[in-house]
Amino acid sequence: MNFFSEKALSVVPYTAGEQPKDRRYIKLNTNENPYPPTPKLRELFSTFDPSALKYYPAPASDALRREIALCEGTETENVFCGNGSDEVLYLAFAAFFDRNRSACFADITYSFYEVFAKIHGVPYVTVPLDHDFRIDPEKLRAAQCAGYLIANPNAPTGVGIPLAEMEAFTASVPDKLVVADEAYMDFYGQSCVPLVRKYKNLLVVKTFSKSYSLAGIRCGYAVGDAALIDGLFRMKDCMNSYPVDSFCEAVCSVALQDREYHAETVRLVVSERERLRGSLLDLGFTVPESKANFLFAGKAKKSGGEIYRALKEEGVLVRYWDRPILRDFCRITVGTPEENRILIEKLKKILS
Ligand code: PMP
Repeated sequence: MNFFSEKALSVVPYTAGEQPKDRRYIKLNTNENPYPPTPKLRELFSTFDPSALKYYPAPASDALRREIALCEGTETENVFCGNGSDEVLYLAFAAFFDRNRSACFADITYSFYEVFAKIHGVPYVTVPLDHDFRIDPEKLRAAQCAGYLIANPNAPTGVGIPLAEMEAFTASVPDKLVVADEAYMDFYGQSCVPLVRKYKNLLVVKTFSKSYSLAGIRCGYAVGDAALIDGLFRMKDCMNSYPVDSFCEAVCSVALQDREYHAETVRLVVSERERLRGSLLDLGFTVPESKANFLFAGKAKKSGGEIYRALKEEGVLVRYWDRPILRDFCRITVGTPEENRILIEKLKKILS
């Protein structure tokens, strides 16, 4: 007996990075922040009244949206919150694409875009990256589509598109939607958020998972013209009225308010990223310049899979994909200085 829908039978789900429990690993495989979230959360944890949880949360997450708007220099009506930016992206596919409104994205980018397109029955075109892993806006512009998904910085390469280039591109396609997925943007500092006032076709998607060290709480948001935000709300209210729970709202508000801590941890990750890239280059790896909290590293004559397996044996987890181009590389999340030191030491051992 088959109980599955055609959709459930045909879809190939996204594969998240592994979370093995067989031993303790140095976990550099899922782009989590190596630093804990703001210590100010301790206060919240001791004062949060559990009886508040007997009520449903605010369906539109108004308090958190206000806080985000304040931080991003926009208005509450320009902000939408979801259960992780993955959910926000899922809803964006539902709201803005369909079988007659196709999507376009780079051939090497966040692999969830392909899954979302398929689950929503959205045809899509992919545009190859340049030889230096850059996304070429000219090639995107030439694509026949209703809109674009651009991860900036891109995943898993870490390569960034400067703000001026994003603006020129957005301005050149006024009738097409540009979704800028800025999950890693705080490690780059070229966010398109200031452009949303000017461009009605721009939707910026961000997350608390990376620069705020809150991957475990599941909260992401979009900033865009009120009409686009309304599209996301329409889809949310067809799926889940309360995607952001009360506790999550409170946690994210506290994290947003501690600007100093956020800036300091971002600074630490960025400086460590540059140091780690230098060490990998010294070991003979090819490493495109990264603007994210991870590095895309390839070594001639060693596949990404070989390096991944050898490192796993040594207790260090990185990520690799058995797909053309990607299989020559590993994606390595920037860890603490000590974690990165051990990674380099293990790599030296493996390569010798
Ligand atoms: N966009 C990109 C490019 C990502 O790499 C990720 C993390 N896997 C996400 C979005 C989703 O992040 P989250 O759902 O944790 O907000």
